[in-house]
Amino acid sequence: MEYSEYHDQAAEYMRLAIPLMKKHGIAMTPANYAVWYEYVAGKNAALTDAVEESIEDNQPLTDKDSRQLYERFFDREKDQAALLEMRQDIRRILTEVLTFLANGAEASEKNGNNLKDIIGRFHPDMSQDEMHSIIDDVLSETRLLTSSTDLLAERLNTVVAEMRDVKKDLDEAKREAKTDTLTKLANRKAFDDVLAKVTVDSDRNGNEVCLIFCDLDKFKLVNDTHGHLVGDQVLRVVANTLKNAVKGRDLVCRYGGEEFSIVLLNTSLQNAKKLAETIRIDVASMRVQRKDTQQSLGKITMSFGVAHYFPSEGTESFLQRADRALYMSKRKGRNAVTEAQPPVI
Ligand code: GH3
Ligand code: MG
Ligand code: MG
Repeated sequence: MEYSEYHDQAAEYMRLAIPLMKKHGIAMTPANYAVWYEYVAGKNAALTDAVEESIEDNQPLTDKDSRQLYERFFDREKDQAALLEMRQDIRRILTEVLTFLANGAEASEKNGNNLKDIIGRFHPDMSQDEMHSIIDDVLSETRLLTSSTDLLAERLNTVVAEMRDVKKDLDEAKREAKTDTLTKLANRKAFDDVLAKVTVDSDRNGNEVCLIFCDLDKFKLVNDTHGHLVGDQVLRVVANTLKNAVKGRDLVCRYGGEEFSIVLLNTSLQNAKKLAETIRIDVASMRVQRKDTQQSLGKITMSFGVAHYFPSEGTESFLQRADRALYMSKRKGRNAVTEAQPPVI
């Protein structure tokens, strides 16, 4: 389904759900709203049947019925991912904002309509980015409304504060999704995203981008001799050494296993090679010892491949060239830096 269809549809469900709730005297609580939104959306057949059954039986639905339905149909979601929970939270908060408007807050026509438009963008399968954008827009629209001292405005203030909390959780979740848990460096996903972006920029503007691939030498031996936990400790120390060697705007990532990658912006091949050489020496001069026995782990070394992006070559070729150069360093005997071959056109 296209985004705009979702947008229209969510607004439509909202328009349908609210009068129905009013008609049945259902309080505008988040749980109740969730039931009625789901009912008008008609995507949950069992829930639709249950609601229709009670309507057909001519038993007016009470607030309590609605809550029971909520518990019956929504409790299963308890175990689902935090993202789903946040989506529920956002829906709940949006409902409160909407209720606030419905109760006749002193919103200007324009302001109220803007909010309704934003709320209409809500849909159950929203991505994190969509959630972010909705929250940002609601926060900026409600800023004007919350200056009033009215009781309702106070309630809205609380809602807005809650929304800020949700945003914080979202930011955190987003950050975690791009961080490697062992080393706290950016992970492969973050690397892929950044590389895609900077190479496209370079295709357009000819900006210089360099890539360093590096891999620990004979790392299996460290694990085999000292165990995995010590291996992990080495990975952390190496990660810090890499991080300390680059400037803030450059990105150091754990590409996978004992392999790291560094994206360098506005950097010539010459300077990228120099940096790789500095890091090679930094790593080889580390004195790492076991925390438990203070036994030295001996010399730790890394091999490097360095490539300079050729505009329009694409990420695949760029990565392959850097990887081949790294492989050549291994072939040469490891603890070495190799410059990548130019792309084959
Ligand atoms: P080479 O110089 O050719 O790169 O040799 P190597 O031993 O480093 O390479 P190989 O690919 O044979 O082995 C890589 C090792 O890295 C094996 C694997 O157990 C270890 N490794 C990968 N990820 C981790 C990790 O997260 N923690 C630990 N402790 N070891 C890891
Ligand atoms: Mg290795
Ligand atoms: Mg490797």
